[in-house]
Amino acid sequence: MAAARVDQRTNAPPVCQSCIPFALRDCPMPLNDVTLWSVGWTESAGVLADLYEPDILKRPILQHHNVFVPWDAFKHHADTLATSQVVHLRDLRQHDLPGPAPEA
Ligand SMILES: [Zn+2]
Repeated sequence: MAAARVDQRTNAPPVCQSCIPFALRDCPMPLNDVTLWSVGWTESAGVLADLYEPDILKRPILQHHNVFVPWDAFKHHADTLATSQVVHLRDLRQHDLPGPAPEA
């Protein structure tokens, strides 16, 4: 087990321990540089969002796509359309990767 890293964040859902071999076998994403980390706990950090500003006719116009908006960025909240929650990952520990599940 490697040393813990500090203040990583993500909007990706976790994979439970028993599903890791199946994710390695079936995930369509390229998995040639995979590391396995466990997370001790999470804290809500903010959202991924699209930011809009009104035009002269007060119609919302997209200004930024898929940007991180932390909870304390109050001046952006009125312009924010959240698409997913982002969490801080705490007490991260690296582990050895198991082999993929056998082909079904
Ligand atoms: Zn699972």
